[in-house]
Amino acid sequence: VTVTVALAGGVGAAKFLRGLCKIVSSHDLLIIGNTGDDLELYGLHISPDLDIVMYTLAGVVDETKGWGIKDDTFHFIDSLRNLGFETWFRIGDRDLATHIIRTKLLSEGATLAEATAKLCKRFGVEAKLTPMTNEKVRTKILSDNIIIDFQEYFVKNKTENEVKDVIFQGAENAEPAPGVIEALTQAERIIICPSNPILSIGPMLTIPKIREAIIKRKAETVAISPIIAGKTLKGPADKVLRSMGYEASVIGVARYYREFINRIIIDRADSAQKPELEKLGFEVTIADTVMKRIEDSVNLAKVAAGSS
Ligand code: GDP
Repeated sequence: VTVTVALAGGVGAAKFLRGLCKIVSSHDLLIIGNTGDDLELYGLHISPDLDIVMYTLAGVVDETKGWGIKDDTFHFIDSLRNLGFETWFRIGDRDLATHIIRTKLLSEGATLAEATAKLCKRFGVEAKLTPMTNEKVRTKILSDNIIIDFQEYFVKNKTENEVKDVIFQGAENAEPAPGVIEALTQAERIIICPSNPILSIGPMLTIPKIREAIIKRKAETVAISPIIAGKTLKGPADKVLRSMGYEASVIGVARYYREFINRIIIDRADSAQKPELEKLGFEVTIADTVMKRIEDSVNLAKVAAGSS
């Protein structure tokens, strides 16, 4: 049985999960990964968030970048550029093997969950990692009357477009991947990892069955704020919260998650906002939430899993 479910985006989540995997048994944990950021490129199916988590747990992630495989080379993508193809989405040569295997498995009829499980096994990852759904969900950014694919906004345009709205295409009709609802129903605790609330966790919360399952388990659900002292450590979470009408603060994060969580873990730097959060009805835990070393991740995982 699944004791702990973790909802995960990319880099922030992966760093946290590295610690969580040290304190919970892999049999007791299910990681639900975001696939709203997935893309099809050069005929390949790429799942950036699933890969960041998989590479991090496998210990092969490029830690300076937070994504990709360490010591990778880029001959493939450079050759494509020399041949005149668009290459704003960087794919390393070792990383490429992952996308080729995933695409091959999918073309042979495997689901994304099956392909993910197989890849994790090959990478020696014991923890169970599943996409939120096997179906196609694509995050789109609505900006000044144009609709932009997520990776184009994120990587190609470096999040410079003004975000007017975020659309999770396909999410409303998507079925959760097998085992997701069972795990959310049974788990003793559900942890929302420190990830971009709107762009990385939002897609999952938009899938109706996942949404309902988490709302029912609100009392057992905790989120770790990715916003510290009004800022994100990386990425556009603060900007996007503001554009969607939330404060870029722990208050904004808590408000965005208000239907889903009972408890929020905030950084020591935000201690002053504890009373306001409590007034809004949240249980608040203060912790050191910046994860630089593995010990930081383990300590934060202990706080989130309630064993500290
Ligand atoms: P992305 O998809 O790669 O941008 O990654 P995520 O969806 O995981 O979201 C990035 C968010 O994680 C940002 O808002 C960061 O502030 C947050 N984050 C990254 N590292 C840490 C950390 O060590 N601690 C906390 N609390 N948040 C973090």
